[in-house]
Amino acid sequence: MQQLEILAREAAELAEGRVVPAGSALPVERQSGAESEAEVDRIMKICNACRYCEGFCAVFPAMTRRLEFGKADIHYLANLCHNCGACLHACQYAPPHEFAVNVPQAMAKVRARTYSDYAWPSGFGALYRNNGLTVALALAAGIALFLVLALVMQGGLFHAPVAGDFYSVFPHNLLVSMFAPVFLIAVLALGIGVARFWREVSPGTVDVLSGAAVAETTQDVLRLKYLDGGHGGGCPNADDANTLLRRRFHHLTFYGFMLCFAATSVATLYHYVFGWEAPYDLSSLPVVLGTVGGIGLLIGPAGLFWLNLKRHPEHGDAAQKPMDRGFIALLFLTSLTGLALLAGRDSGAMGLLLAIHLGVVMALFLTMPYGKFGHGFYRSAALLKWAIEKRRPNPVGVGSE
Ligand code: SF4
Ligand code: SF4
Repeated sequence: MQQLEILAREAAELAEGRVVPAGSALPVERQSGAESEAEVDRIMKICNACRYCEGFCAVFPAMTRRLEFGKADIHYLANLCHNCGACLHACQYAPPHEFAVNVPQAMAKVRARTYSDYAWPSGFGALYRNNGLTVALALAAGIALFLVLALVMQGGLFHAPVAGDFYSVFPHNLLVSMFAPVFLIAVLALGIGVARFWREVSPGTVDVLSGAAVAETTQDVLRLKYLDGGHGGGCPNADDANTLLRRRFHHLTFYGFMLCFAATSVATLYHYVFGWEAPYDLSSLPVVLGTVGGIGLLIGPAGLFWLNLKRHPEHGDAAQKPMDRGFIALLFLTSLTGLALLAGRDSGAMGLLLAIHLGVVMALFLTMPYGKFGHGFYRSAALLKWAIEKRRPNPVGVGSE
């Protein structure tokens, strides 16, 4: 009861402008990292007294376990937020109210900074902030590289049909020597970034890692649980109306990507373990997995792009639109060029189609650790922390989860 009184008093102070006046908060596009964190701190203290949104997602029950919000808490909560927008539309203190509570926007601003703050190597964090440009440059460089290589190796971009034999255009060992190091460095950079984030937000919690917490996290990640709005009906996008489309398109994108990855992995096994070299029949496992995954990876990103264009302007951080759209476009192009290559693999344009597809895939690899690709890993780490945390006694002793 005493804790609730403290929270109510803090909310009253915030309302009266004695702590951080709501009206004085800078527009999000002009906030520094510290100002973005101060804004989340201000909002969380108001929410902690209100608690109307407790059932919406994991952010609010995690919030009730805290009375103060340090930097690590704010980074954790920001990555726990799925930016569904539900709490903004439910909030009686949202703008134009003088409290100006906008949880998804404040969280989005901090979340983007966590990606760059924890990036490895540290100096590369700035690439996140110019992600649209980074993606465009990587795309142009990747495609140009493979077009030039095709010209050099084939003496021209068009050739007599070679029955889908990719390796007659780009030898297998050449491709492996180009893609393997880039892929491994991208995985390493992403892994170090997420490990740094985990160390910051979860000191000492690995020892209490339980199978139940891991299983729950895995289930929440695979189901995208928190894009259901907390009631199963979905979350708002353009207006107050709930829709499950964002969750559906995310699923198509995620599982489409995983199937394409599985297709490449199976083809690698065929090549190295069984000595079966590409091209593979249309009914073979790598081609079936790649085709089904590719269709998912076309529909999912196209849908996400459409929703992104219609998204309510108050839901997120406008400065992140280039990062979101650059990543969506890259996924879409990866699939489109892959399916075009499959369709044209018996033609004389196969070399050209292959060069463009490989250029796009190279751009995806190059931007993987410094683009939106990482958001799923940071969210998963935050969900794992929540699954661990909720199994411990509530240190504050008020609220529920
Ligand atoms: S977002 Fe608004 S309604 Fe929801 S808990 Fe915070 S202050 Fe209350
Ligand atoms: S935007 Fe959605 S996920 Fe984020 S805090 Fe609000 S309800 Fe939770």
